[in-house]
Amino acid sequence: DVFKLDLDTPTYKGTVSVNTGLFINGKFVDPVEKNPKIDVVNPATGKVITSVSAGSAKDVDVAVEAALKAYKTSWGLKVPGTERGKLLSKLADLIEKNADEFAALESLNVGKPFTVSKNRDVRLTIAVFRYYAGWADKIHGKTIETNENKFAYTRHEPYGVVGQIVPWNFPLSMVSWKLAPALATGNVCVLKPSEITPLTAQKLAGLVNEAGFPPGVVNIINGHGSTVGAAISSHLKIAKVAFTGSTLTGRKIQEASAKSNLKVVSLELGGKSPNIIFEDADFEQAVKWATLGIFSNSGQVCTAGSRIFVQESIYDKFVEAFRKAAETRTTQIGDPFAEETQHGPQVSQIQFDRIMTYIDSAKTEGANIVIGGNRHGGEGFFIQPTVVADCKPEMKIVREEVFGPVAAVIKFKTEEEVIEMANDTSYGLASAVFTENNSRAIRVAHALEAGMTSINCYNVSEINVPFGGYKQSGVGRELGEYALETYTQVKAVHVNL
Ligand code: NAD
Repeated sequence: DVFKLDLDTPTYKGTVSVNTGLFINGKFVDPVEKNPKIDVVNPATGKVITSVSAGSAKDVDVAVEAALKAYKTSWGLKVPGTERGKLLSKLADLIEKNADEFAALESLNVGKPFTVSKNRDVRLTIAVFRYYAGWADKIHGKTIETNENKFAYTRHEPYGVVGQIVPWNFPLSMVSWKLAPALATGNVCVLKPSEITPLTAQKLAGLVNEAGFPPGVVNIINGHGSTVGAAISSHLKIAKVAFTGSTLTGRKIQEASAKSNLKVVSLELGGKSPNIIFEDADFEQAVKWATLGIFSNSGQVCTAGSRIFVQESIYDKFVEAFRKAAETRTTQIGDPFAEETQHGPQVSQIQFDRIMTYIDSAKTEGANIVIGGNRHGGEGFFIQPTVVADCKPEMKIVREEVFGPVAAVIKFKTEEEVIEMANDTSYGLASAVFTENNSRAIRVAHALEAGMTSINCYNVSEINVPFGGYKQSGVGRELGEYALETYTQVKAVHVNL
């Protein structure tokens, strides 16, 4: 079936259309078993837009067989890197040609402002495919001299069939982070989008053949985590699984891998990232970045700066400036397709309820809701940007990932104390420090237990810089040259002359 919708909005006028079937072996097909389709909801209105096929373990089996066949006959190291790169470039060009439609679908399905979908998510997606297209013919091993008559060399070989499971907060760009490096290094992919936000992945599936990928190289199977996701992570013929999502699900995936074939697992998980603001920081800049750091994408960002530590002497001044910034942000909430909208709804009723429960817990535990804390508007899943001050380290709002537009502000006295508090978490994804003292900036950046840290900025992720977490925020790295390691295994070849 094809979902088609004419849109006449201030930012997008035109049709959006996607095939709602499963994309297996180069074709859109119906699931093997007749499962109920999954409704796709517009979070700005709460109304169902369409429904998309849901796969099962049987569809994963079919896709894995198709992928294995493609790997052995028409992909993997059979195809030169230059050729793999060409196809990735072509896919990037096709996405670019359809950029506005991709952005419209992303905004319809996730609720993010159209201008943000277009200028950030879609642009980043295109750039990621181009970046890894460039790497595809630059994957080299080393020669290692051992003794006079012997040497060894290394090859970076693909795993074969790679399973990939992505979340709903950046549905399209997460697909690019997964597919691009995996395909560049010669793997074949079975990818599951989030069942909440499948539309842009479905659209991308429709371009895979036109880009020239042989059938079976890319398979996209929408479906529930407990069925398709679980089948991928426990499949005996899938050699590696790459996952982005919650820590809870990441744990299940590692367990499934351990109980099946010990497939290699890479995980990008949740966070509760500290943003530390010292009294000698550039105050305006710190407020600006703290605001972006927590409220971007309506707070649904794994690296969100959700624990804001502010030094005692500037604490009151900061809370007031941050309150004003949140107030301004509140005026930018609106229809995702309106020109001026900067802040959209939460993705689903479930997320909305979850976030409201956290706000309630903050109230009960005695924190101070400085601004926000309520639903915004009459329909959809909008929540006001919320600043919670006077937080104590033991409060739920400080310890658990909220994944919404809710900042916990905590007072600190000394550098030593704040490092201790910042590291007092099971997560370790992002972090930031604001100070004009360079020595302190670097000292603190090095002391933070996190895979990423920023000095005097926040949430800056670059395609060519590794992305990933310490502790329970993840295993392995995406982006940059590091993703090539994530998707290859090293073979040592010993040669006796
Ligand atoms: P989630 O873990 O509920 O779902 C993520 C994906 O896993 C979905 O496709 C889902 O269907 C699938 N899934 C669910 N149960 C499964 C199972 N038992 N086996 C296999 N797959 C299963 O997470 P979410 O709610 O979609 O996303 C929000 C979470 O993702 C947050 O915790 C956030 O921090 C994290 N996240 C992390 C990053 C990162 O790079 N570190 C990026 C984005 C989101």
